[in-house]
Amino acid sequence: MGFESFWSPRVRELVPYVPGEQPRIPNLVKLNTNENPYPPSPHVIAAIAEAARSGLQLYPDPESTLLREAVARYHGLDAGQVFPGNGSDEVLAHAFFAFFQHDRALLLPDVTYSFYRVYCRLYGIAVRLVPVDDRLQIDVASYAGQPAAGVVIANPNAPTGSAMPLAAIEQLLQSQPHCVVLVDEAYVDFGADSAIPLIARYPNLLVVHTLSKSRSLAGLRVGFAAGQRHLIEALERVKNSFNSYPLGRLAMAGAAAAYEDIVHFEQTRQAVIASREALAVQLWRLDFEVLPSGANFLFARHPDHDAKALAARLREHGILVRHFAQPRIDQFLRISVGTTAQCEALVEALRLLLALA
Ligand SMILES: *Cc1c(COP(=O)(O)O)cnc(C)c1O
Repeated sequence: MGFESFWSPRVRELVPYVPGEQPRIPNLVKLNTNENPYPPSPHVIAAIAEAARSGLQLYPDPESTLLREAVARYHGLDAGQVFPGNGSDEVLAHAFFAFFQHDRALLLPDVTYSFYRVYCRLYGIAVRLVPVDDRLQIDVASYAGQPAAGVVIANPNAPTGSAMPLAAIEQLLQSQPHCVVLVDEAYVDFGADSAIPLIARYPNLLVVHTLSKSRSLAGLRVGFAAGQRHLIEALERVKNSFNSYPLGRLAMAGAAAAYEDIVHFEQTRQAVIASREALAVQLWRLDFEVLPSGANFLFARHPDHDAKALAARLREHGILVRHFAQPRIDQFLRISVGTTAQCEALVEALRLLLALA
């Protein structure tokens, strides 16, 4: 072994998450990381500019009070029920540390956001995978009656896009009352009901949101968890044992402003939803099987074309989509919904590629 001998044994065992590529290629049609194709509200830019003009020499508020208040106002919560972090990935990591390190296993769908298993590796959390059904849908009944360290579900799920009704989430909360049920709602604004209104009734519910998708702020790195006070307190203990200032002044100001501009939010969200539905029809016309999606992406496979090869050919045309070399889903492409022009470019390229092959 070479210089890896400097690594601690734990680091040698890590299997890090691989983010979708962010290449610097001009005129790229980037449909591979579920970013919003529209820029954030002008109010967000103004708030960030204002924050940049004053106080950058000072540490930011370690409690992110103004941001917590803005999120709490929007969602009808108390500020103490909101825990902001440096992207929801950081919030998720703290939640895995706080709630799931346990002698029992954490229950996860076998097809879901692959970062969850990375945190389990990092923190030594045992996992039991619960299979999604043949249509790649989560069946909450299969989570009942198993003693667990916790349950993590994404709703809508990634990378399938499939959304569950709130009644199913509630069934899950009731069937696992003794552990934390974490519902990752990264895509909820594109087509599912949020579980946040259930927080008052379920002491085991933690809901996680990101501003990276529906708020067009992937570059700012802000997410939050919402739950009853005892859960938020655990997250604060972890955070204050790790980094007191995860959010900078610019991020807090921009994120808080995003919740004030409801018109911009509604316009961009509806535009993405409309483009998603139009793109689904176009793909279907090209013979793709397209899963129903409540997210800002589509999960689709072609009966006659290998997904990995198609993704590679699209890349040659300057179009990036995501392929996961994972069991059960390796014939699917995950396609982020872009602007109308981006979706048209994708469909045009596919038409060409499918005809050639
Ligand atoms: C994008 C995504 C996240 C991460 O969001 P960030 O706030 O950008 O870290 C978390 N969960 C799921 C399911 C996602 O798709």
